Amino acid sequence: MGKVIAVASGKGGTGKTTAVAALSSCLAVLGHKTLCIDFDAGLRNLDLALCMTDFAIMDYMDVVSGRLNLTAACSESSAIPNLFFLSAPSAGVPEDIDKAALDDMFEEIRRDFDYCLIDAPAGLGSGFKLAHSNVDMTIIVTTGDIASMRDCNRTASAVRQLGVTNLRLLVNRVIPKNLKYIKTTIDDIIDTVGVQLLGLIPEDRNVFLALHENIPLILFRKRASAYDYLDAARRITGEDVPLQQYK
Ligand code: ADP
Ligand code: MG
Repeated sequence: MGKVIAVASGKGGTGKTTAVAALSSCLAVLGHKTLCIDFDAGLRNLDLALCMTDFAIMDYMDVVSGRLNLTAACSESSAIPNLFFLSAPSAGVPEDIDKAALDDMFEEIRRDFDYCLIDAPAGLGSGFKLAHSNVDMTIIVTTGDIASMRDCNRTASAVRQLGVTNLRLLVNRVIPKNLKYIKTTIDDIIDTVGVQLLGLIPEDRNVFLALHENIPLILFRKRASAYDYLDAARRITGEDVPLQQYK
């Protein structure tokens, strides 16, 4: 059975969407059939990070409402084999979404895919709860920013209250000299958020450049942070990959 993983942070702009696209791409490259779903209805942009804007036509509400079957609704990336995408409805999610149909969709996803990554919306509202309705694990994405860490601590509590026990932390946009300057270590960040570490992703201008050149980060000519995402993806699969030493 496949594993469903939500990526959340509380705060917007910490790098959730970038992380979902990069981790899903890496899992696919490692040979795992991987689906990523945008759950940020209304503010969806996972299609951009995946370079799959042409495929943001079908969305998960098409499946939940029975208009399309799962296979027809999911689009495979032409650039990265094994990588599939399902968009969020652009107009938002109805209040009275059929939860049983949503559960059925995830049951089918677990049968058809090895991994499913969910791009959860910012905040702790109904969209966040919906994104956590069927998950086995949540990856919390924080930056070294004090507001982000505090929000991630609250997000981790909210995730636990929703019944998820397997949480991991991705520290994004790491700038070692800034952390040194404010006398903060990665261990301090882990302690503040209160979640076990999955990986560290450095500040990397290639994230910006790849997005603007419409090239998936892991296929971009400079692979800087893509290697760190690959390490994190390996850890998701259970491999014991040592952490990069940032000095
Ligand atoms: P979220 O989905 O949490 O709102 P995004 O993934 O959209 O966050 O990222 C917010 C911004 O930060 C984007 O402009 C993205 O390009 C940038 N970004 C994300 N990760 C990195 C990184 N490691 N280095 C540099 N910029 C990054
Ligand atoms: Mg986002």
